[in-house]
Amino acid sequence: MTQHLASASNTLSKFGTFAASVCDWLTDLIFPPSCGNCGIVDYRFCADCRDQLTSLPLEALSKSVESLDGVCATGKQDSILEAAVKSFKYHDALELCDPLAARLAASLNQQQWQVDTIVPVPLHADREIERGYNQSDLLSQLLAQARGLPCEPAWLARIRGTSQQAQLAASERRQNVAGAFQAKAEVAGKSILLVDDVITTGSTLIECALALRAQNATAVYGIAISTPHIYR
Ligand SMILES: [Zn+2]
Repeated sequence: MTQHLASASNTLSKFGTFAASVCDWLTDLIFPPSCGNCGIVDYRFCADCRDQLTSLPLEALSKSVESLDGVCATGKQDSILEAAVKSFKYHDALELCDPLAARLAASLNQQQWQVDTIVPVPLHADREIERGYNQSDLLSQLLAQARGLPCEPAWLARIRGTSQQAQLAASERRQNVAGAFQAKAEVAGKSILLVDDVITTGSTLIECALALRAQNATAVYGIAISTPHIYR
């Protein structure tokens, strides 16, 4: 009986995935996507713009943020980098995962950080289901492969829902994420690299770092694709 139920649930889940992809296909047919950078129709981020992104010089902007041993971003959040992060995060432009992760790897190479494990900044489970993926998780997996390091998304969880930081004033951001994360005991004795898409006030990274340190992580670093501020 249990086996039948499991098999029925598996079939339903496969049907759900199939139905979702048919839905996506129909939506694309009726409302074709357009490139998040140049606007050309039929692409979420076209090949020309991806080439431009790949050749965009690395800026390696670093910043000192409380509770973290080092923080850096691969460039300023404007022009093509801002468009790429938005398309990747909100418009399913997963073809950007490779070029964006390559920027992170190059930026990390410039730091003298001793990292044991890579951990993505988690989304709340509800938001991950709604979006279908966690953009920081995808970047973390590729960065970990590039550096030959383990990636452990389950070591840090978002234990309560929060409003989207991008929609809040700087002064409200810290309160919004206060106590929102919980780390697993496995982080004890490890130097952790947190991966996020954008660093704005640093509030999310600080809260993640506090949760990791509460479980005795020895060092916490943060890396992101872009930042709206210039830090050198
Ligand atoms: Zn384009």
